[in-house]
Amino acid sequence: MDPLLQLAEILDPVALCDYIGKKTRYGKKCDHSFKHAQAFLKEYPSADWDQVRPLLESLGAHCDCEIGFNVCTRTDELPEEVEERYGYTSGS
Ligand SMILES: [Zn+2]
Repeated sequence: MDPLLQLAEILDPVALCDYIGKKTRYGKKCDHSFKHAQAFLKEYPSADWDQVRPLLESLGAHCDCEIGFNVCTRTDELPEEVEERYGYTSGS
């Protein structure tokens, strides 16, 4: 299974990207840790960081700014069922 879809099972990737984008200004403030991603995870008590981290890494994201580059650039690939689950639309 695509790690992006697995990630979407655990949390809303678009909300994560929104959060990371605001916190890092897409890379400018990244200190090459996952601190913002981990802070975001606190809003998802059901989400386990130990489960999320390997998914991010398999998507090529090893810190907050790489989530921006390697995960957030792909959120428009998410299937409709994910969009429905989290209640947003891709703008179509
Ligand atoms: Zn970084």
